[in-house]
Amino acid sequence: MTDGPSYGFDTLQIHAGARPDPATGARQVPIYQTTAYVFRDADHAAALFNLQEVGYIYSRLTNPTVAALQERLATLEGGVGAVCCSSGHAAQIMALFPLMGPGKNIVASTRLYGGTVTQFSQTIKRFGWSATFVDFDDLDAVKAAINDDTRAVFCESIANPGGYITDLDAISAISDAAGIPLIVDNTSATPYLCRPIEHGATLVVHSMTKYLTGNGTVTGGVVVDSGKFDWSASDKFPSLSAPEPAYHGLKFHETFGPLAFTFHGIAIGLRDLGMTLNPQAAHYTLMGIETLSLRMQKHVENAMEVAGWLETHDAVEAVTYAGLPSSPYNDRVARICPKGAGGLFTVKLKGGYDACVKFVDSLEIFSHVANLGDTRSLVIHSASTTHRQLTPEQQEAAGAGPSVVRISIGIEDPADLIADLNQALNAAR
Ligand SMILES: *Cc1c(COP(=O)(O)O)cnc(C)c1O
Repeated sequence: MTDGPSYGFDTLQIHAGARPDPATGARQVPIYQTTAYVFRDADHAAALFNLQEVGYIYSRLTNPTVAALQERLATLEGGVGAVCCSSGHAAQIMALFPLMGPGKNIVASTRLYGGTVTQFSQTIKRFGWSATFVDFDDLDAVKAAINDDTRAVFCESIANPGGYITDLDAISAISDAAGIPLIVDNTSATPYLCRPIEHGATLVVHSMTKYLTGNGTVTGGVVVDSGKFDWSASDKFPSLSAPEPAYHGLKFHETFGPLAFTFHGIAIGLRDLGMTLNPQAAHYTLMGIETLSLRMQKHVENAMEVAGWLETHDAVEAVTYAGLPSSPYNDRVARICPKGAGGLFTVKLKGGYDACVKFVDSLEIFSHVANLGDTRSLVIHSASTTHRQLTPEQQEAAGAGPSVVRISIGIEDPADLIADLNQALNAAR
């Protein structure tokens, strides 16, 4: 398929990045289950290793099945390139790696996936990196947190565990003014509901594990580059602007222009960190993305219906779903994610911790699992699981206190979901 900016999302989610296989004419993207690729001759091999010619060398760096997925995701997000990785968490490290160095920091939202809070507050310290967490509704606090050593601003579009939408336009205005990139984790929204690059994001990261694959079969991640950031505008990003000793002094930004970040991600990031996505996983994710728009519409429809019903139940203290008129973030839906606020939200039970545990144990259609964004409806009691490593203050800030259950609404019949929630709420009284 030729690239046409005129194609709609539903067409691109099926066709972008995929062409009939040149060797066999296979219509579906084949799983290229190979480690290495034969060089035409010694000159070809040398050109590939010098980055003078683009091609396949070794599947830690590039693979045709993975490449098809990268092109599809870059297209759907409106970026110029993408690098797939072995998980969402790998994608976050891969996004930060070219930007950071010892002593450098990121300014991150307090409203993040629990695993990301742990990665940023604990693990990245081993690299000499650090994170400052701020309430991203307090724009002055975000500005004040940025200093000379800040190399990125990080937030989620629709924040896990749901109910919060970041004002990406306001945040990107701040990161632009400071001359640093904005990284947006778009996992909970997907490019069908939100396209962060249109709101000023420099890089978009995903856990493909969730809605992109959509059925709980794959662990994967991706970094999509907008291609819009001028890495040479300051001396803050030497990995991208200064001579690279591992490639005979090549300067990524000078040589690859808007694709600098993507080439660096493959030629340095995947080569040396090795957080590679395998072709089988890429294939499952490509298949999942073919139906992304249909699934997301149904996730949103079901979430609206179920969240609205839950709000009226007398065992429920509060429902945080940005799609509901009662949400303080409802007015951001039309601007940031116009097709809906996703399928993820939290419910706070009047009965506290004990009622939450009983409720989760009584559900029949909903599974109690540490996942989200599946066709099946899922729940988790965040405080005792995903957000367990966080302090009580961090749990509250992330919307994951002890009486809160996170619900990921699937694409089943909404009446069946409501009946199941009703019997479990009654059992938990
Ligand atoms: C799951 C998740 C991640 C981590 O992704 P993995 O694929 O589990 O490594 C990061 N961010 C968000 C918003 C997530 O939901």
